[in-house]
Amino acid sequence: MKYYARIGILLHRLRMIPLAWLNLPWRSQLLIAALSYVVGISGLWLLFPSTHNGVSMFLPIVIACWLFRYRGLLATMVLNGLTFQITYILLLRGLLPDQAFVVGGIVGFITSLGLGVIVCWLRAAVDQVRMARQQILAAEQQRLLVQLQEQQIALAYEQQRKINALKDQFLLNVSHELRTPLTVLGGSLEILNDFGERLDPTTRAQYMKHAIESQEDLAALVDRVLDATEIISDIPNAKPEAIDVRHFLQEMLAHLKAHEIAAYTVHLQMPDQLMVWADPQFLGQVLHNLFSNIFKYVPTRTEIHIEGVQAEPTAFININIQDEGPGIPADEISLIFEKFVRLKRDMGGPTRGTGLGLYICKQLMEAMGGRIWVESSGQPGQGSRFCLSLPPVTSR
Ligand code: ADP
Repeated sequence: MKYYARIGILLHRLRMIPLAWLNLPWRSQLLIAALSYVVGISGLWLLFPSTHNGVSMFLPIVIACWLFRYRGLLATMVLNGLTFQITYILLLRGLLPDQAFVVGGIVGFITSLGLGVIVCWLRAAVDQVRMARQQILAAEQQRLLVQLQEQQIALAYEQQRKINALKDQFLLNVSHELRTPLTVLGGSLEILNDFGERLDPTTRAQYMKHAIESQEDLAALVDRVLDATEIISDIPNAKPEAIDVRHFLQEMLAHLKAHEIAAYTVHLQMPDQLMVWADPQFLGQVLHNLFSNIFKYVPTRTEIHIEGVQAEPTAFININIQDEGPGIPADEISLIFEKFVRLKRDMGGPTRGTGLGLYICKQLMEAMGGRIWVESSGQPGQGSRFCLSLPPVTSR
């Protein structure tokens, strides 16, 4: 620190001493006043013979008035009177060698009184300023408190608004999902009811089949919503085990609906012995969600590339699933793993969905210590690449 900065700090501290005293406990203040008296009287008796005045008594009166205001003034007047009396007696007995004491004493007494009054006024002025400052500080604190409370209320309101928006979105998605199977079910039942007797057995069986399929669709939707709410509210703990990725994917592909997967050309590019540490149920559900999205959003007779990559032996293993569908627009990429989010182009479109599939994928991947993200140029035909990253078995 520069020397003039140090001098500045020192001067500031010195300037603050009189104010710092005001915050001391009254015992300490009394001690300071008593000490100033000792200094004052010694000064009086030592200096009086040579200087002919009691100026050293100014010190105790200034300090007493500063610390105790008019009470201090009264006390010092009494004590100064006593001190001058004793000094007078000492002079009369020849113990102090001056004769002009009486005049000096009276003048000293009057100037001390004047000085004390001035110090008392000064102290009153300082008290007023301190009080005003405290009031300003208290008002500022109150203002900040109110501001904080307002911010908290605004935050809570915003959260509530978001929850409501999510709820509305969820209801919109679900009601949209419900509409198609309900219409088919209602229509088929109506026809069967109105014309059942007059329909030939094949047509009747067809309407019956439509009704049953729609009912199954509805039941599946209810199950999906229930599953989703269960997963959202309480993700079970992952039970990870060593999984051979290639084998697992082949099994999973074999269990997809044959007519759905047969509509695409699937390329599986996966080294042997690629072992991840994952919960088979969670991973199965994630892959199932990704493939059911492909079946919903990616045109048939296109290619799907599945590749497994591990950059180095201990690195996380990536499973990338690339399709040739419409892709994800850049401004919506960061949103699609959020709850109830569907792309704008699919909202209200013919393809049904709750906007929960990818959100659930993200929760499940994170529960396994992994990650999921999507890469897409957003250009139709260039598709999307959903990437899963999972811990390798070797790192355990
Ligand atoms: P859902 O399919 O039930 O709407 P998801 O969370 O599974 O919900 O998907 C969110 C949105 O992401 C979908 O609505 C769809 O707009 C978009 N999406 C998902 N997968 C693909 C994909 N492979 N290609 C293009 N868009 C997709």
